[in-house]
Amino acid sequence: MVNRRYCAVPGCRSSSKRSPFKAFFSVPLEIEERKKWLQAMCRSPSDFSDKSHLDICEDHFNVGTCFLYSHNGGFEF
Ligand SMILES: [Zn+2]
Repeated sequence: MVNRRYCAVPGCRSSSKRSPFKAFFSVPLEIEERKKWLQAMCRSPSDFSDKSHLDICEDHFNVGTCFLYSHNGGFEF
Protein backbone atom coordinates (compact mmCIF):
# COMPACT_ATOMS: atom_id res chain seq x y z
CA MET A 1 0.00 0.00 0.00
CA VAL A 2 1.52 3.25 -1.15
CA ASN A 3 0.78 6.44 0.74
CA ARG A 4 -0.80 9.18 -1.26
CA ARG A 5 1.68 11.92 -2.08
CA TYR A 6 1.01 15.58 -2.73
CA CYS A 7 3.19 18.16 -4.38
CA ALA A 8 4.13 20.92 -1.91
CA VAL A 9 4.97 23.53 -4.56
CA PRO A 10 2.60 26.52 -4.47
CA GLY A 11 0.07 26.47 -7.28
CA CYS A 12 0.78 22.87 -8.19
CA ARG A 13 -2.10 20.48 -7.69
CA SER A 14 -0.33 17.26 -8.51
CA SER A 15 -0.86 14.33 -6.24
CA SER A 16 -0.23 10.65 -6.66
CA LYS A 17 -3.99 10.24 -6.96
CA ARG A 18 -4.51 12.93 -9.60
CA SER A 19 -1.34 12.13 -11.49
CA PRO A 20 -0.49 8.51 -10.81
CA PHE A 21 2.24 8.46 -13.44
CA LYS A 22 4.19 11.41 -12.16
CA ALA A 23 7.33 10.92 -10.14
CA PHE A 24 7.40 12.46 -6.67
CA PHE A 25 10.57 13.42 -4.84
CA SER A 26 10.85 13.78 -1.07
CA VAL A 27 12.27 16.96 0.39
CA PRO A 28 15.27 16.04 2.59
CA LEU A 29 14.93 16.33 6.35
CA GLU A 30 18.51 17.51 6.74
CA ILE A 31 18.23 21.22 7.68
CA GLU A 32 20.58 22.83 5.14
CA GLU A 33 19.41 20.66 2.25
CA ARG A 34 15.83 21.26 3.19
CA LYS A 35 16.35 25.03 3.21
CA LYS A 36 17.68 24.90 -0.34
CA TRP A 37 14.76 22.86 -1.58
CA LEU A 38 12.24 25.14 0.10
CA GLN A 39 13.98 28.21 -1.31
CA ALA A 40 13.87 26.67 -4.75
CA MET A 41 10.15 26.04 -4.25
CA CYS A 42 9.64 29.69 -3.24
CA ARG A 43 8.51 28.49 0.18
CA SER A 44 9.85 29.54 3.53
CA PRO A 45 11.13 26.88 5.94
CA SER A 46 8.82 28.41 8.53
CA ASP A 47 5.83 27.35 6.41
CA PHE A 48 6.41 23.78 7.45
CA SER A 49 7.39 21.95 10.56
CA ASP A 50 10.98 20.68 10.48
CA LYS A 51 9.88 17.11 10.44
CA SER A 52 6.93 17.18 8.11
CA HIS A 53 7.23 15.01 5.07
CA LEU A 54 7.05 17.01 1.84
CA ASP A 55 6.96 15.83 -1.73
CA ILE A 56 7.60 17.64 -4.99
CA CYS A 57 6.39 16.32 -8.32
CA GLU A 58 8.55 15.90 -11.39
CA ASP A 59 7.10 19.05 -13.01
CA HIS A 60 9.50 21.24 -11.06
CA PHE A 61 12.74 19.65 -12.13
CA ASN A 62 14.54 21.23 -15.06
CA VAL A 63 11.68 23.66 -15.60
CA GLY A 64 10.25 26.74 -13.98
CA THR A 65 11.53 30.09 -12.89
CA CYS A 66 13.20 29.42 -9.59
CA PHE A 67 13.70 25.70 -9.64
CA LEU A 68 16.94 24.41 -11.08
CA TYR A 69 18.24 20.93 -10.92
CA SER A 70 21.82 20.08 -11.73
CA HIS A 71 23.03 16.88 -13.33
CA ASN A 72 25.13 15.88 -10.37
CA GLY A 73 22.06 15.45 -8.24
CA GLY A 74 21.93 18.73 -6.34
CA PHE A 75 20.29 22.08 -6.73
CA GLU A 76 22.20 24.99 -8.19
CA PHE A 77 21.57 28.57 -7.20
ZN1 LIG B 1 4.21 19.85 -8.55
